[in-house]
Amino acid sequence: MIDSYPQLHAKTLTKVNLKKQSYPVICAELGAKGGNVPCVLFVSGVHGVELIGIQVVIALLESILSRLEWDCQLQQLLTKIKIAFVPIVNPIGLLRSTRCNGHRVDLMRNAPIEAESKVTFLVGGQKLSSHLPWYRGHQGVEQETRALIQYVELLKACSTSLISLDAHSGFGMTDHIWFPFAGSSKPVSSLGQIYYLEQLYQSSYPYHNHYSFSPQSLIYRTHGDIWDYLAANESDKPFLPLTLEMGSWSWVKKNPRQVFNFAGLFNPQKQHRQVRALRKHTVFMQFLLDLAASRELEHMSAEGLKLQNQAAINRWFQR
Ligand SMILES: [Zn+2]
Repeated sequence: MIDSYPQLHAKTLTKVNLKKQSYPVICAELGAKGGNVPCVLFVSGVHGVELIGIQVVIALLESILSRLEWDCQLQQLLTKIKIAFVPIVNPIGLLRSTRCNGHRVDLMRNAPIEAESKVTFLVGGQKLSSHLPWYRGHQGVEQETRALIQYVELLKACSTSLISLDAHSGFGMTDHIWFPFAGSSKPVSSLGQIYYLEQLYQSSYPYHNHYSFSPQSLIYRTHGDIWDYLAANESDKPFLPLTLEMGSWSWVKKNPRQVFNFAGLFNPQKQHRQVRALRKHTVFMQFLLDLAASRELEHMSAEGLKLQNQAAINRWFQR
């Protein structure tokens, strides 16, 4: 047992206003101080209605805080890495149970990046009307989008590598792990490292890999994806922006009455399904922490990276 284990530090990234009330976007950090360590970031609540993602990320934070009181392996782990959380990017969306923010803007269509080719109609982001979903906004980058972008850039700058996992729900029957690009069919610069991460997860936890990994553009294309914007700049350090898209249609299929409730399209309504969703991602999230601490991604040889990259191109880009 180490004498003083790492404490949680929280700070406000920005505050958004609604009817004279102010709501903070908070980040919380745990673990090693200084810039010489890898970092893992967990993000949720970009879409306010997707409550289950927020619950998954907060459950992880609570579990870590609870285990830190006795778990010496976790205490040791946190001397080697930093863990960061932004559990509610869109507090007004959460309050109103909407996908968009207080200005009706979909934050995941609002980053300053255009898709390189035609996007999926409406879903890909639109500037026709704020009364239609997937609105990109007319006032530039929203406060919440900017706060998340700046925070991720700060973490990138002061860490030796960064893995991020942004939790969402609402698409498909199964759980997906998506990565950039959403607006281009080009491979992302960390493609080889992401492929290697998946291979390691598959070989280490073959009975826990219920995820379908792919670049988001293979599923549907969008403008203004925050992770596209952050991944578009070449980085000399590994940066692996992952999106966990929990397949909510399976909850709706099992409980069709959920379609009459907007939040029911994105969240399990029965308690046992909620509990299942909360425990389903623990192994993967803990794997990300252990992988970061191993520095396996940082120490890949140029030759090894080239092989992983080629395997990834063969898998996802030869169509
Ligand atoms: Zn979402």
